[in-house]
Amino acid sequence: MVICPEDLCTGCGVCAEVCPTHCISLVDDSEGFRRPIIDASKCTDCGLCRDHCPANHDFHFSKRLEQPEVYAAKAHNKDILKESSSGGVFSVLAKYVIDREGSVFGCVLDDHLNPIHVEATAEEEVAAMRGSKYVQSDPGDTFRKAKTLLQDGKHVLYSGTPCQIAGLNSFLGKDYDNLLTVDLICHGVPSNLFFHEYLRWLEKKLKCTISEYRFRDKRRMGWGSYGSMQYEKLQKTKTFTRWLTANNDYYFHYFYLRGDNYRESCYRCKYAKASREGDFTLGDYWGIQKHHPEIAAKDGVSLVLVNTEKAKRALSDISKSLDLVSSKLEYAIENNRNLVAPMARPQTRNTIYKDLTQKGFERVSRENIKLKRFVPWIKRKIPIRVKNKIKMLLKRN
Ligand SMILES: Cc1cc2nc3c(=O)[nH]c(=O)nc-3n(C[C@H](O)[C@H](O)[C@H](O)COP(=O)(O)OP(=O)(O)OC[C@H]3O[C@@H](n4cnc5c(N)ncnc54)[C@H](O)[C@@H]3O)c2cc1C
Ligand code: SF4
Ligand code: SF4
Ligand code: SF4
Repeated sequence: MVICPEDLCTGCGVCAEVCPTHCISLVDDSEGFRRPIIDASKCTDCGLCRDHCPANHDFHFSKRLEQPEVYAAKAHNKDILKESSSGGVFSVLAKYVIDREGSVFGCVLDDHLNPIHVEATAEEEVAAMRGSKYVQSDPGDTFRKAKTLLQDGKHVLYSGTPCQIAGLNSFLGKDYDNLLTVDLICHGVPSNLFFHEYLRWLEKKLKCTISEYRFRDKRRMGWGSYGSMQYEKLQKTKTFTRWLTANNDYYFHYFYLRGDNYRESCYRCKYAKASREGDFTLGDYWGIQKHHPEIAAKDGVSLVLVNTEKAKRALSDISKSLDLVSSKLEYAIENNRNLVAPMARPQTRNTIYKDLTQKGFERVSRENIKLKRFVPWIKRKIPIRVKNKIKMLLKRN
């Protein structure tokens, strides 16, 4: 039995949650992405899994605005702003819900650096959720936990990729006044297998153990795509920091940003559009200086889409904690194509996971990255005059 086409399955896990005979398990495929496997001997063909699968149907229950309201925003709290990937709006929303004795669900890296969704009921617990983790997170049993809390009348904030929010909405099956959802503008997600092969390679190269990893870290170079990691040399007790930049961070700056290693569903993502899954949509407001020079952008600015009536009320409640400027969707899209279109699937995707498992991260990076680094280097070395001649020759032909 097929629940949905294989290349559209996002691994949200709702099918397993709703199956009345518990015959669906989520198992890592050869690329390390979770997929539903059905125990045919227990399946009664009731069709509930297909009916709840967000790849087959849309599930929107919140009262939507005709057009999303668009804002540029950043948190007043300087510590939150520094620790967040963009403008820290997620943490301001989290505080709002926790102050009302609610629960926040978001992604953390666990002690073994695996991305998982967990619940936070105190502000200190929200800290680990800050910062984007560019790997597919495992929602575990958080949909079920959130539903129980909502039924008990507790306030809940659930944040995740749009396909995770679509999964949650399908699982809940209705709107709750006490629920706020946040979906992120989403490039795509590599598997945890890819991330951990990279970590293993780094540990071997540096003869170390990595204890902490931040995909984005503003402490050294401000808002951008630079990260950091903490590691201990083997048999030593001192902890070192390595700043991750375009020169040494192959995982993020090469494979991730080029879209080489995403889940297949990401290249056909049905959520890469202005009509969104969450009450709020958050992203980086790249290119903000062009349209809103009045906002100081050095430490990051969030792009905020307010998609529902509920989100509109919540924004009004938290607005005193934010620098907030009204903006336009077309400005936001200019530098954030993933808001309206999925990433293109590159040729490299055909072989990258096979190569990773057969040859290892070292060979994959050597074969893919050296050439990519060499070409821009050559381009930089060619004098402008020669470049112009080549351009003219090309135009003539
Ligand atoms: C995989 C991924 C791809 C993204 N792609 C884009 C993009 O193309 N363009 C863009 O503008 N913004 C993108 N973002 C969003 C952006 O990086 C920020 O997360 C967002 O702007 C919120 O920032 P913040 O400062 O409000 O809060 P932060 O504190 O930085 O927010 C972190 C939030 O993201 C959640 N989160 C972190 N990692 C994951 C994960 N792996 N899965 C699910 N939820 C996660 C946390 O639970 C938390 O709610 C992406 C984020 C992720 C995780
Ligand atoms: S998209 Fe979600 S519900 Fe559909 S098959 Fe995949 S894991 Fe199951
Ligand atoms: S058809 Fe029904 S019993 Fe069979 S896997 Fe789907 S939900 Fe479970
Ligand atoms: S790109 Fe789409 S399918 Fe992929 S993780 Fe993001 S929302 Fe899910």
